[in-house]
Amino acid sequence: MSKSKSSEAVKVVVRCRPMNEKERAAKFERMVSVDVKLGQILVRNPREASANDHPKIFTFDSVYDSNSKQIDLYDETFRPLVDSVLLGFNGTIFAYGQTGTGKTYTMEGVRNDPERRGVIPNSFEHVFTHISRSQNQQYLVRASYLEIYQEEIRDLLSKDQAHRLELRERPDTGVYVKDLSSFVTKSVREIEHVMNVGNQNRSVGSTNMNEHSSRSHAIFVITVECSELGVDGENHIRVGKLNLVDLAGSERQTKTGAQGERLKEATKINLSLSALGNVISALVDGRSSHIPYRDSKLTRLLQDSLGGNARTVMVANIGPASYNVEETLTTLRYSNRAK
Ligand code: ADP
Ligand code: MG
Repeated sequence: MSKSKSSEAVKVVVRCRPMNEKERAAKFERMVSVDVKLGQILVRNPREASANDHPKIFTFDSVYDSNSKQIDLYDETFRPLVDSVLLGFNGTIFAYGQTGTGKTYTMEGVRNDPERRGVIPNSFEHVFTHISRSQNQQYLVRASYLEIYQEEIRDLLSKDQAHRLELRERPDTGVYVKDLSSFVTKSVREIEHVMNVGNQNRSVGSTNMNEHSSRSHAIFVITVECSELGVDGENHIRVGKLNLVDLAGSERQTKTGAQGERLKEATKINLSLSALGNVISALVDGRSSHIPYRDSKLTRLLQDSLGGNARTVMVANIGPASYNVEETLTTLRYSNRAK
């Protein structure tokens, strides 16, 4: 694998969730094994008769097995990115994968259980702990929360949930979401409250939250502004932005015989996930002069936080059981290409 300079700015890691009760009860075979030392995922070939024959092997920056702890992912993989946001750089964390593989577990986790808190609540704690220990800096933390559903942007913190927002571009500040609300938060409790409000709005109007979240991208944005008196006697301001993205489910929805609205929806999801894959692989490649940001709302929206000085982590989530080994392989190929 070639390691270009930009590949350090983009990390792709894979996390395999444990078998769930249903899968254990149904005695599904385990098709995935995780070699943490080598950073490899091994998938048994579903068509091979013997368990020892030719597994497919994929190598990543890091891999996490079903025993992996939320805090270990945070400390090894996410913390350095959040540290760079505190220094004034932009960063994006994506959770990618088929529905039911642990994207929301990785991003949010179980928030009232400190051991199972995901990257979003852990980053809240990290940011405000950092601020409380700082001596000569003034910080301003703002939060926004939005959703992209069918290539339409909804502000999850707005009073008017029927309103759709537009992407705009300015020569000085680049691409932004017009009229997106943002709230100043002064503590973990305040930013958690903002997140709760957004989550409630997200489920409003969707009869089945699971179905809705499998078809939309949710983006929680934390902007950290730091001002510091320099030796020149002037105030210096740095702004870093952290995008926390729970992506739509990557399962190939067009295969399931979707028609009409559903098919249109499915096509848009596939489009934005493949646009994201194209952008990330162009960035990792480092030789492409053209990064195709404009191909989807998601990549346009995140343009200033993907590439350049920004850091990106993509967590590809997979399940271990035999019945979705094809989707697992699709996820691994996608993420491998992203690398
Ligand atoms: P997704 O958001 O990708 O659809 P979820 O995060 O909702 O998937 O995960 C599906 C189920 O599996 C949830 O009940 C979740 O708690 C559980 N789960 C996912 N990943 C893990 C993990 N690493 N350890 C324990 N449970 C997990
Ligand atoms: Mg989810």
